[in-house]
Amino acid sequence: MPTLRPVTPPAPSTSPAEVRPAPVHPASGDAPQPGTVSRGQPADPQKFKVMVGPSAIDGQGAFAGEPIPARRKIGEMRGEFVDMAEARARARAAEKASGRIFMVAISDKRAVDATASTDPLRFANHSCQPNMVLKVQQGRVAFYALRDIDAGEELTARYGETHHAGRLTCRCGAPGCQGRL
Ligand SMILES: [Zn+2]
Repeated sequence: MPTLRPVTPPAPSTSPAEVRPAPVHPASGDAPQPGTVSRGQPADPQKFKVMVGPSAIDGQGAFAGEPIPARRKIGEMRGEFVDMAEARARARAAEKASGRIFMVAISDKRAVDATASTDPLRFANHSCQPNMVLKVQQGRVAFYALRDIDAGEELTARYGETHHAGRLTCRCGAPGCQGRL
């Protein structure tokens, strides 16, 4: 399994763009948009109902729409495969526009940009005590339940230490929060 290292813009700035599954436009919603799903992937990798709504952690979040048992696959975050040069260019563009970008590195060479995806799990926020684990499997980004999850709980994953290079404050509020992303 490749190291999960979400793409970070190369140089620190006064206003670092967040590079992770997070809303670019809160109003982008989860309405179906045909044609945004990459080819060669399963038609519906979503195994449990996931809703999108306002998050206590940050912006929009993903929430369990039904109870999810421990260890079950919840779904995937699909998107467009881009190489690292393109990923960095998109991160810089998002930073310039003060926007956010839904992007996860799947190897040292490639990333998945889910900005145009409709998969609700792209809204999953980081938590220092997550209830999901993110796994990269054959280039696909999948989320699994770490424990039994109740309907209505916010779904969170640990995106790794490098993803904000320690420059942003973590607001996950979990006991033992490391305070930084
Ligand atoms: Zn935290």
